[in-house]
Amino acid sequence: MRKTISALLAIASLASTANAQSVYPDSSKPMVPLSMYCREPGMVALTFDDGPSNNFPTVLATLASHDVKATFFLLGFKLAYASRVLQARAALNEGHQIENHSWDHTNFTRLTDAQLIEQVDSTNQIIWDTLGVKTRFVRPPNGSINVVQGIPIWDMGYGVATWNLDSKDYSQQPGWTADNVYDEVTSKINASNPEKDSFVVLMHDSSPAAVTRLGDIITAVKAKGYRLVTLNECADAGR
Ligand SMILES: [Zn+2]
Repeated sequence: MRKTISALLAIASLASTANAQSVYPDSSKPMVPLSMYCREPGMVALTFDDGPSNNFPTVLATLASHDVKATFFLLGFKLAYASRVLQARAALNEGHQIENHSWDHTNFTRLTDAQLIEQVDSTNQIIWDTLGVKTRFVRPPNGSINVVQGIPIWDMGYGVATWNLDSKDYSQQPGWTADNVYDEVTSKINASNPEKDSFVVLMHDSSPAAVTRLGDIITAVKAKGYRLVTLNECADAGR
């Protein structure tokens, strides 16, 4: 009996690997190995990690009211909950991009290749099963990655997505508020030149500090002359 169960588990695990491979990125789109800024100046891609969180509907409503499309890097385990799947579907229906932020936010630099592939594959699979989307980018938890961890990700056909503007909305510093997050983003935007620069902004929908002044951040980015885009538009610009 024991043997039968382990044989079945082995088959199930093979099947799940095969399924994960069948939902690897669409090869009709170019693989962009590293996205930390856009390929053309004048673009800003807002990216939100770790969701869907309880603030997700508020973030979607703010983005909609400013007619902005963003990119959400989701954690796979959250999509095991029906309520989170509904939130993620709402984002897709509104034209936002959904990408892979690992299953449970484990630091990739501490993982073996097999563990890292499992983190990416399981998330890839649940995003496909629940949302019908093939992801294209992996954002390593905390942005922690080096070339060694990049290799299996690139082998699977994913690009690695980092950022060049950290909103620091996750800061636990005493007294750090939504105004600090606003200043963190807008000081860099205001000091930049949309004819030369572009930004991928790291934010978290779970952060009240980010959510509170998101509308003001969008207004400031637009006022400086930037176009707010999804990561796909940002990575594919000029191709
Ligand atoms: Zn994260």
